Amino acid sequence: MQTSPLLISSLLRFGTTMHGDSEVVTWTPDGARRTSYRELGRQAAQLAHALRGLGVTGDQRVGTFMWNNAEHLMAYLAVPSMGAVLHALNIRLFPEQLVYVARHGGSQVVLVDNTLAEAFARLLPHLPDVRHVVLNGPVDNATTASLAEHAEGVHDLATLIADEPTSFDWPEHLSEDDASSMCYTSGTTGHPKGVVYSHRSNYLHAMGVSASLGITQADRLLIVVPLFHANAWGYPYSAMVTGATLVMPDRYLQAEPLAAMIAAEGVTGGAGVPTIWNDLLHYLDDHETDVSACRMLMVGGSAAPPALIRAFADRHGIDIVHGWGMTETSPVASLALPPAPVEPGSEEFWRYKASQGRILCGVEARLVGPDGDVVPSDGEAVGEVEVRGPWITGSYYSNGSEPQPELDEMAAKFDDGWLRTGDVGRLSADGYLELTDRAKDVIKSGGEWISSVDLENAIMAHPDVLEASVVGVPDEKWGERPLASVVLRPDAGVTVEGLREFLEGRVAHWQVPERWALIDEVPKTSVGKFDKKVLRSRYAAGELE
Ligand code: ADP
Repeated sequence: MQTSPLLISSLLRFGTTMHGDSEVVTWTPDGARRTSYRELGRQAAQLAHALRGLGVTGDQRVGTFMWNNAEHLMAYLAVPSMGAVLHALNIRLFPEQLVYVARHGGSQVVLVDNTLAEAFARLLPHLPDVRHVVLNGPVDNATTASLAEHAEGVHDLATLIADEPTSFDWPEHLSEDDASSMCYTSGTTGHPKGVVYSHRSNYLHAMGVSASLGITQADRLLIVVPLFHANAWGYPYSAMVTGATLVMPDRYLQAEPLAAMIAAEGVTGGAGVPTIWNDLLHYLDDHETDVSACRMLMVGGSAAPPALIRAFADRHGIDIVHGWGMTETSPVASLALPPAPVEPGSEEFWRYKASQGRILCGVEARLVGPDGDVVPSDGEAVGEVEVRGPWITGSYYSNGSEPQPELDEMAAKFDDGWLRTGDVGRLSADGYLELTDRAKDVIKSGGEWISSVDLENAIMAHPDVLEASVVGVPDEKWGERPLASVVLRPDAGVTVEGLREFLEGRVAHWQVPERWALIDEVPKTSVGKFDKKVLRSRYAAGELE
């Protein structure tokens, strides 16, 4: 057989010609902006020429500091196709972390949305490698001047590409194993770690995810997951494979505009973390919205509460598809699609849907016990999940001139060619994964383990509860005990005692928390997950009694 390399440029070429009429819709309060894939392909070529003009050669990194919009997608296509490496910076990291990640990635050119230009101007003095800043949209003179103080050139994207040719000879000498893009883990311990995706890994991941989710050209997908979070879950490249139209929310990420996008754009599917869909659910419950076109919303990044999955199906006819993965796994490694013989709507069906799903074809998974031995995949034994496969990282990025993540810590993430995920759970013989917790979030209460996720799911099943997060806190007698931090609906009548009673019978009696905090909002990480680190430190500071 022939061995044509699997390159992002072939996805670009295919998507922007075969699916030339498909669209990227970018939301603005004054109506949506629309670009066809055909036009996007031309603009990607123009951007590649412009980047060459700014000196981008070889596998230099090109950064983005952007929301989800058509221009960000243009960079997703142009940068890897020209042989450079796209580094989408997480705009929500704390400044010190952002500076670390941007320096470590080493971009010399960064594309910046105009609404983020001021924030970027504060970082730029700390990024000596950045030579050119390319602004997407008009920016005031003071911000432009402050950017210009610390860069060789500050450019307007539209002007920069306007006169460039609309086709580009995408280099064919690239190897499919060459780097195409990179993302950093959000670094819950130590420095964030860089994961570098290859053309091949992105290509295969896009094919695998598109086929598993059954995405077609008729789909109109609302991409809430930021393009800087874990490789945007592969959607930019799945879109090229399938021709699905992408609806990009830009900076309008609250439930109200998301609901408006679903209704106005006839959205058929979407992708986001549980907190996003949880907010949307409560909005839809209270506001009549036409969601009739929406067939599925993919959820991942942290465990989706079963109550959320059921509520979307029962009250809005929307199928929530639970997926699991990590930045290190491109990220989609499993999808909760119940096996065909299981009767839709049966208890068994809902159990499958609440699981992290079946490991995708191409990915292998196994469980390893505390002594390092593989434990059976029999749906009973519990162990740490390890994975390997063509879109699982084999190492972390090292950049000799910047401080590195601790080498021991990086090496400890691999076990004889398998990636140690830090997630603990069960695997069934037919490949379904059921996570009990992240290893570091499991609560060790007197010799027994309590799953923080099980408790959260049980509490969030109460109709008066909007959000609940559970962390282990030190306890003199038991070593650790659960602390439940709960956000109630504004009109809620339930008391803490009522919540405790609600849990009796749903979880083992000894697991029911004694410590509760009623709070206004669960703190979230830069990608919208419950931030357990913050809850633990608030408790330690006496703020969550
Ligand atoms: P970070 O480690 O910074 O949160 P990632 O987004 O790469 O960055 O997080 C990967 C982790 O998210 C996984 O190891 C797992 O603990 C958690 N996760 C992702 N999807 C799920 C899911 N469906 N259910 C439970 N946990 C999940």
